[in-house]
Amino acid sequence: MKNLCPCCSGKLYEECCEPFHSKKEFPKTAEELMRSRYAAFAIPNGEYLWQTTLPSKRKFHDKSELEAWGKENTWTKLEIINSSEKEVEFKAYFTDKFGKENIHHELSTFKKVDKKWYYVSGKFLD
Ligand SMILES: [Zn+2]
Repeated sequence: MKNLCPCCSGKLYEECCEPFHSKKEFPKTAEELMRSRYAAFAIPNGEYLWQTTLPSKRKFHDKSELEAWGKENTWTKLEIINSSEKEVEFKAYFTDKFGKENIHHELSTFKKVDKKWYYVSGKFLD
């Protein structure tokens, strides 16, 4: 079955974020990593979210909570507002378990370590 990628790139999942999720390839830019992390919330894939978090920041996150957060919401759209080498501002649209529509607006910071990009932290915007 051919599915469009949940990151809203318009590409097929297998030609977009799937190679990252299956570790066949690694994101080459912070924005690619951000998109693949959004897709990992939509699927959900808590393991991928955990592994793409900077190792020193993993203590602030919980793999099963990440997975549960992905699962309890319906992820409808990703909009990239701005992206630079190490920062991505985005809006993630989702419907929560109560049926309420939400927009998560965040400025995320990323860091490259040994040729791989990691999520460092995010600042929530309104
Ligand atoms: Zn994608």
